[in-house]
Amino acid sequence: MTDFPSVVLSSRNHKKIGEVMELLAPWKIQVQGVQEFDGVEDVEETGTTFAENADLKAITVARKLGRWTIAEDSGLCVVALGNAPGVYSARYGGEPSSDARNNAKLLAELARLQDPDRRAFYVCHAVLSDPEGRIRVRTEGRCHGEILAEYHGNHGFGYDPLFLVPEYHQTFGQLAPAVKRHISHRARAFEQFIPQMVSVFRSL
Ligand code: IMP
Repeated sequence: MTDFPSVVLSSRNHKKIGEVMELLAPWKIQVQGVQEFDGVEDVEETGTTFAENADLKAITVARKLGRWTIAEDSGLCVVALGNAPGVYSARYGGEPSSDARNNAKLLAELARLQDPDRRAFYVCHAVLSDPEGRIRVRTEGRCHGEILAEYHGNHGFGYDPLFLVPEYHQTFGQLAPAVKRHISHRARAFEQFIPQMVSVFRSL
């Protein structure tokens, strides 16, 4: 296991990095956040799909550093809003972007609708790029829930205090991080991703 190449994680979102590192921890693959390297600029997320943005983040950093790179693009899709905010989840509330502004905008948009369908799902699209910028692994995970009208809990990040997981009768903001680590969109994407990455590394 220790012979596997080390991998860069192309994200500057600390909470997200923490969640991905925890998912990868049992595999003893050395992961470094992109912030540990000098001279790597932020990648602009100009894609219109989760896949395009994940590819952009992975390929740009992989080529710049000449290293294996993991990237994920994720977001929240709300049925009554035509699956918005989707790929625009991080900056839904406008600039400067913040979780508080994004959540406030989400509640305001739902409040404009009469008896809205509150079903929603998180998506996580994860990719692995080789050092030359070729995508070698691609997986996607989803987690279904409902958007509440009030905030509950302060675990997690982003829309978590509004995202109810019906099976648990709690939001991701209330559920213990260990539970989110098992059932989230990110957990589901990485559950498929890790064995595929390991088999790519074993074939080198
Ligand atoms: P990205 O960094 O462009 O992938 O943006 C992801 C955005 O989607 C975050 O800033 C959050 O607004 C939202 N998001 C993604 N995953 C989660 C999650 O696990 N909990 C809460 N919000 C999330």
